[in-house]
Amino acid sequence: DLTSPELESEAELAFEGALRPKSLTEFVGQTKVRGQLELLLRAAAMQGRTPDHVLLAGPPGLGKTTLAMIVAHEGNRPLRMSSGPAIQHAGDLAAVLSSLVPGEVLFIDEIHRMARSAEEMLYLAMEDFRIDIMVGKGAGATSIPLELSPFTLVGATTRSGLLPNPLRDRFGFTAHLEFYDEPELEEVLRRAAALIDVDIDRDALAEIAGRCRGTPRIANRLLRRVRDYALVHGRRADITTVREALDLYDVDALGLDRLDRSVVETILTRFDGGPVGLNTLAVSVGEEADTIESVVEPFLVRVGLLTRTPRGRIATPEAWRHFGLQRRPGGLF
Ligand code: ADP
Repeated sequence: DLTSPELESEAELAFEGALRPKSLTEFVGQTKVRGQLELLLRAAAMQGRTPDHVLLAGPPGLGKTTLAMIVAHEGNRPLRMSSGPAIQHAGDLAAVLSSLVPGEVLFIDEIHRMARSAEEMLYLAMEDFRIDIMVGKGAGATSIPLELSPFTLVGATTRSGLLPNPLRDRFGFTAHLEFYDEPELEEVLRRAAALIDVDIDRDALAEIAGRCRGTPRIANRLLRRVRDYALVHGRRADITTVREALDLYDVDALGLDRLDRSVVETILTRFDGGPVGLNTLAVSVGEEADTIESVVEPFLVRVGLLTRTPRGRIATPEAWRHFGLQRRPGGLF
């Protein structure tokens, strides 16, 4: 799906690698988070210590991995990449932690999906750069303390609310990444266009910026499709080319993806605009409540199609207009 914020393929991963900003100055937008990170890195450099642990929270595709790489790059430190789903036992984490070199940056993506037993090991590691390794089983089991090299943990999560408090509290700070506004997305696109050598008009960039769901990953992906379209049709990447290319791929004027559309349409047609509870909605759409709450809803709220109320989710008048539907007169259902 062209407008899904998740990574699509290995090819996309390679494409993204080429476009990733390498420094905080190159990183577009997120002014507040950039300022916070800069302070953290400079203070650590002045004191000659490893920077505090950082938690990056926010929907996929907004730059969490990129920022982790920048933390390593700016401090000239090696980077180790791991992810919550890859850490299913405390032993998986012990293996990673015990092999870190001094000053290394450890990036754990989707940290909320790490095994519980590993979480507890991580508390001690973050606080004291030490872990306890359990040896043996049953009554004869003993724990052997192991000193670790000082490291900086950069955790990323789409759900900071799912992290246990003791883990959240051990991060020096939590950066909340926000969806990008259109001028910022235009800047992301301008930069990417220069890097992949596409000559594209200003208003064409603005058109893509308005349809990429506030997400740099999607902006870059749409740019790539527009480049292909212009190439195949022997055309310049102007606004007409952009509109035709994006229409071909069903990217609508708001950049809604299939799941966004399905959530809004379900509320409109099956629940007459709501209110409907999250779990009922999730079952109707056939998606996990978690994904709807952390990935889909923040964007729908932002573009003004959905409101969250204590009674449930409600589609806005704008949602009815966008889908060209009308509320049934009279009853709720
Ligand atoms: P996440 O880890 O949050 O899913 P990534 O860091 O992998 O997101 O970012 C996805 C892509 O979007 C990267 O390839 C990067 O090129 C681009 N990107 C993200 N944030 C920015 C930004 N602030 N400026 C420029 N490009 C960005």
